[in-house]
Amino acid sequence: MAHCISAAAEAILDKEYKVLDKGFVRLVDYMGNDSRIVQAARVSYGDGTKSYREDSGLIDYLLRNEHTSPFEQVIFTFHVKLPIFVARQWVRHRTARLNEISGRYSVMKDEFYLPLPEDMAPQSDDNKQARASEPFPDDDAREMISALEAGQKRAFADYSALIGKGLAREVARINLPLSLYTEWYWQIDLHNLFRFLRLRMDGHAQKEIRVYADAMFEIAKAVCPQACDSFEKHLVAGRNFSGPEMDALRNLLDGKESGLSGKPEERFKAKLFKQD
Ligand SMILES: Cc1cc2nc3c(=O)[nH]c(=O)nc-3n(C[C@H](O)[C@H](O)[C@H](O)COP(=O)(O)OP(=O)(O)OC[C@H]3O[C@@H](n4cnc5c(N)ncnc54)[C@H](O)[C@@H]3O)c2cc1C
Repeated sequence: MAHCISAAAEAILDKEYKVLDKGFVRLVDYMGNDSRIVQAARVSYGDGTKSYREDSGLIDYLLRNEHTSPFEQVIFTFHVKLPIFVARQWVRHRTARLNEISGRYSVMKDEFYLPLPEDMAPQSDDNKQARASEPFPDDDAREMISALEAGQKRAFADYSALIGKGLAREVARINLPLSLYTEWYWQIDLHNLFRFLRLRMDGHAQKEIRVYADAMFEIAKAVCPQACDSFEKHLVAGRNFSGPEMDALRNLLDGKESGLSGKPEERFKAKLFKQD
């Protein structure tokens, strides 16, 4: 079977999807598409691509039933520019290959992430990891952004001065803040990209990584729209229910009370109404 080309992916190769104030994601290259998933799945039968509808049904079946290995046959190489604090979260996804700009080899650029006023929210009351949904009043937010910016300027001025004195780049950089932008090439297969996207497009993920995940999902849709459609249907919009929650669902379908109360009931409702 021939090399797989997606016209929509060819059209966006190298296009920068702007993310945050100075970041981007671009698709450098890809290998395989929806047809490759189908070819890989049918290899055991020596059977090739069938009609669009049958192929789409097979992809949906594979994803629904966690037959994940055919999805590993599709590969993406992304070029990403991102703040270091986002990169710290990103590298926890180990099933990828990456190559990052070296602060030992290159002088780092004066490029730092600054949030928008709408992103400057207080600590959340009910989630220890997150920010509240309402931002600070605009004047307060702008004052705090100025404080962040002043810190970035100071750190970069110190860095430049140390470089000017001849200090090795690998040492001069050590006080640069997490808001500094870095760049890398990141290569991953579709199965593991879906794992990354499922966690990082979710409302629990920090906004600053979520916007990258959203951009990458747009790119993935250009490469393999049918697989992405199944991913949205089963993994993004779907929910896993525990044994007691399944009992509660059966009770509700029988027209009875759920049988849950307190926190378990709250969690169940949040799942059901997509608030978790
Ligand atoms: C909202 C949110 C909050 C988080 N908060 C924190 C936090 O406070 N602190 C923190 O440390 N982390 C945190 N994380 C990171 C999280 O714990 C995971 O490390 C991250 O999401 C990567 O998930 P993963 O291990 O499934 O991914 P991957 O590393 O891509 O792994 C995918 C699968 O492959 C398996 N695998 C990977 N590498 C190997 C290997 N070498 N050998 C065998 N199996 C392997 C994994 O077990 C997993 O099943 C957070 C993540 C999210 C989404």
